[in-house]
Amino acid sequence: MASTSNAVAADRRQDADRASVPRVIVRPAAAALVVMIVAAATVAYGVHVAAGRLGAVDGDDHAVLFIAVFAVGVVVLMLCHELGHVVAYYALGLGWAQLKLGLTFSVRPRDTPRTWQQAIIAPAGPILHLIVSAGLVAATASQPWTVLWLVGAVGALEAGGNLLLPIPSRSDAAKMYRAVWGILRGRGANTWQ
Ligand SMILES: [Zn+2]
Repeated sequence: MASTSNAVAADRRQDADRASVPRVIVRPAAAALVVMIVAAATVAYGVHVAAGRLGAVDGDDHAVLFIAVFAVGVVVLMLCHELGHVVAYYALGLGWAQLKLGLTFSVRPRDTPRTWQQAIIAPAGPILHLIVSAGLVAATASQPWTVLWLVGAVGALEAGGNLLLPIPSRSDAAKMYRAVWGILRGRGANTWQ
């Protein structure tokens, strides 16, 4: 009896995973992320003011407005990062099951990717993050040290790190290197997470 109801529950879970609308899960840790982003925005405002003292920029932006725009900009870039992974999921026919918002953001495909697919999915997020960030820096190049330029510059650094540095072990770069290593060793088996 118990096994039957377990099977039914598993079927339901699978049905939910197959639903066309992805699940969005907000973890309490998202509050800590907000605090961290506001702290980073405050540091960026300090950099902006210091650049103003040095005459590199007007530096007279309203503090609250600067911090709000910077924080929203960082979150939008983080969502662009996840969108990069989602685009890869759809391009590879894996679908998209879940967006999790916590201390970091993450997305999960509906179907488990194979190793060669992981080698495409893992860098897709940092690459879109990098393209949008670099685009923002290029678009505001005539006004360096302003809020949008700083959002782009920080985003480009973060995305570059995500793409190349395999720290921590669950980072996109670590996943990409593991997948490439798996392909080189001829392993079709799964190395995802
Ligand atoms: Zn990612």
